[in-house]
Amino acid sequence: MDYQKILEDIYQEILPYSKDGKQADYIPALAKVNPDQFGMCLETVTGEIFTHKQADTRFSIQSITKVFTLAMCLSIKGEALWKRVGKEPSGTAFNSLVQLEVEKGIPRNPFINAGAIVLSDILISELENPEEEFLSFVRALCGNDEIDYNMEVALSEREKGYLNAAIANMLKYHGTIDNDIERVLMFYFKMCSVEMSCRELAKASLAFTNHSPFEYAGYKLSKSRIKRLNAVMQTCGFYDEAGEFSYLVGLPGKSGVGGGIIAVYPHRYSVAVWSPRLNSKGNSVMGMKALELLTTYTEESIF
Ligand code: GLN
Repeated sequence: MDYQKILEDIYQEILPYSKDGKQADYIPALAKVNPDQFGMCLETVTGEIFTHKQADTRFSIQSITKVFTLAMCLSIKGEALWKRVGKEPSGTAFNSLVQLEVEKGIPRNPFINAGAIVLSDILISELENPEEEFLSFVRALCGNDEIDYNMEVALSEREKGYLNAAIANMLKYHGTIDNDIERVLMFYFKMCSVEMSCRELAKASLAFTNHSPFEYAGYKLSKSRIKRLNAVMQTCGFYDEAGEFSYLVGLPGKSGVGGGIIAVYPHRYSVAVWSPRLNSKGNSVMGMKALELLTTYTEESIF
């Protein structure tokens, strides 16, 4: 399969959409990013790497971080994790409060904000130094010790994070989080603020293709757990657009409001794409199109 040519063809085909959508501006630091950027990287399990455009530009991974958080929590808690958070698609926005109220503070899944805030609480309770542990895990996943939090982004999100603070307060009211709200929120915002490039994200996501034993920085997951983690990405990775992504792309994946998307083709490859302009559901317009064309041109998907 000539993935290099396919990435180049895809880019030409999606150019007409390059001005569609707009970047996230509810986090002031993200509003400063140039929206007219695009990068893509595909890495196969045999170690071949294909890139196009700005595959080495780092950006805010935002909710893609939730995959790493879930992997750590599953490694620590195993199946008991599902007592604290559900694994059903939410069908609502990533920051919805309504469902959380109706369902008495048990988040539908770990990939909406409420779910990830509960997972942040778990890591704070379980680990002596959660900030350092999280970074070591992500650094090990992509084999790069430069990966770091961007404190300007994290603090900017904290300053305007009224909705996430409301979610954390509701969780605390229902007894779903144990630690101090401020501590939990700041750790959550820090994990969202991590910056990585498409090349680094593709490398990190390769671990989720299940092609070799999963053990990074001491965190282990069995093949069966990785399978289940992919199932949650497939059904919950794109909030109220999870069905659409599944329909168009046919791979497990996860998006973030920084404009990044990762997707995994089990036992074959991982791919990361980035372009900051988002659709109304908070998913990258060009990123979604690029992945749709990738599985269409290659005629490869899990279905
Ligand atoms: N940090 C962002 C938030 O909590 C993450 C959301 C996202 O990427 N969908 O709003």
